[in-house]
Amino acid sequence: MLQDRYGRRFRYLRLSVTDVCNFRCTYCLPSGYQAPAGAVPEGFLGAEEIAVIAAAFARLGTSKIRLTGGEPGLRADLPELIRICKQTEGINTVALTTNGYRLPKQIHDWHQAGLDRLNVSIDSLDRQEFASITGHDKLPTILDGLDQALSLGMQDIKINAVLLRDGYADRMQSFLSWLRDMPVTLRFIELMQTGDNSVFFRDQHLRGQEMLTMLVEQGWQETARAQDAGPARELWHPDYAGRIGFIMPYSSDFCASCNRLRVSALGRLHLCLFADQGHDIRSWCRDGDVEGLMQHLQDMIGDKGESHLLQQQHTGATRHFAMIGG
Ligand code: SAM
Ligand code: SF4
Repeated sequence: MLQDRYGRRFRYLRLSVTDVCNFRCTYCLPSGYQAPAGAVPEGFLGAEEIAVIAAAFARLGTSKIRLTGGEPGLRADLPELIRICKQTEGINTVALTTNGYRLPKQIHDWHQAGLDRLNVSIDSLDRQEFASITGHDKLPTILDGLDQALSLGMQDIKINAVLLRDGYADRMQSFLSWLRDMPVTLRFIELMQTGDNSVFFRDQHLRGQEMLTMLVEQGWQETARAQDAGPARELWHPDYAGRIGFIMPYSSDFCASCNRLRVSALGRLHLCLFADQGHDIRSWCRDGDVEGLMQHLQDMIGDKGESHLLQQQHTGATRHFAMIGG
């Protein structure tokens, strides 16, 4: 079992499969994806390397893998990657975070490959606003894909929306009306500062706590959190089909419930989203050395810090989330 010196256990791996993204979200890649200067000699993790990572983490107690990016839907072999993770002994949940661009065309394949959980990022339900946040007029396509996922019977679908100051009140109202009949969990994520977005962050950051308090006043109730649950807080309301969650990394005890580790698409282990560096695990992946990787992961976990230092504007090596998967 992967456990750190603060007693936190890590059953959840966020595995990025590409840095590339086709969207230009204002808070993440406002100028679009730029390939790093100089060649990336080995490219992104291949299917066989991903099999090694999944096996090593699973043998150390990981039961859930989330595939993320960049935009994971841009990888043609995504169904194979889902299948590999799903067939790894010990992994019982394979999840995907996507911007939804390929959802209508791909969801059947992803589902058939064994995808258990789906998170789709939708920052606004207003078509124009959605296009101005993401750089793509794709809201109707994404909503169509979401309906298809629901009709496949997928459970516990989550919608990620980053909390942004401009236009916040109108967005909140339309999300609330939508949730009356939409059986999904809408998760508001506090905008986090990264190396590249500090000006945008200063302008747009909004705390979630005030909104959470307002919802409780309107009859929303907080669900009890399971032991080992991650840091999200979740609310339900008897008159709504949907739920609302909050991810508030700027709240004081956020890191106490951290249950996840991250591996970037270049094969670097990140002990925290805002760590100063990633640790290269590529050689074990390349050699197919599951036991060697397990030993290395156990050695590395001791270096995990107690908390991020976001309150002090310390964003570590993370220039934007597309390079690590959020
Ligand atoms: N491209 C996919 C997507 O957007 O769903 C997966 C990768 S994206 C980096 C994962 C999540 O991180 C998305 O829900 C996105 O909204 C969120 N995100 C990106 N940058 C963020 C930031 N600076 N603060 C908070 N959330 C952010
Ligand atoms: Fe792409 Fe996701 Fe970043 Fe938006 S948040 S630019 S969709 S990686």
